[in-house]
Amino acid sequence: MSGRMDEAALRGMICKAAKRLWDRGLIGACEGNISCRLSGGRLLATPSGADKSELREADLVITDLNGAPIGDGRPSSEIAMHVRIYRERSDCGAVVHAHPPIATGFGLAGRTIPDNVLPEAGYVLGPVALVPFAIPGTPELGEAMAPFLNDHKTFILAHHGAVALGETVLDACNRMETLERVAQIVLVSETLGNTPTLPREGVEWLKKVGTGPKLR
Ligand code: 13P
Ligand code: ZN
Repeated sequence: MSGRMDEAALRGMICKAAKRLWDRGLIGACEGNISCRLSGGRLLATPSGADKSELREADLVITDLNGAPIGDGRPSSEIAMHVRIYRERSDCGAVVHAHPPIATGFGLAGRTIPDNVLPEAGYVLGPVALVPFAIPGTPELGEAMAPFLNDHKTFILAHHGAVALGETVLDACNRMETLERVAQIVLVSETLGNTPTLPREGVEWLKKVGTGPKLR
């Protein structure tokens, strides 16, 4: 659990995840943001407008549960969206927001990613919510996500990007990576003209294991 790791370890984990998102093309330029819970009802978040490929641990910003900074730095412009998620989901320890190109392209086309075509789509992602457009950096984005928050952990934001929840930063980062990989595979199968659903035994396996060992 993020809550059991000390602050220094969590700072390291966020910087490592940010570099991974950037290296794998899930964010570019200064896009995306990451946060996790800290002890004492606080959050640790990436700063606004930073190049996530060279983030330093000292750059990260601590906020309260309203997203107000405690100490130096300006948190991500999406802190209100992160705050909304932590308020609604006590089981969520970390939030990753990225702009993965293929998954975001599905959102632009008004489509989500099916969770019944690959084992990891069902297991890691669960159903992927398609969240109607809201202006980035406003509380309306969290508001638009709210109806989906209780029973989703993976979200495509129409005309914007994607959000993955996790028990830990690594869990949320892995989920974001899986979202983009599944989107790539579905795009290839659609280009080839056929996207069959999982065979019966795959569906039954998924029913048995549910949507992941961690978050609901
Ligand atoms: P920040 O750099 O302020 O976190 O914004 C990036 C982003 O993706 C906005 O949606
Ligand atoms: Zn964004």
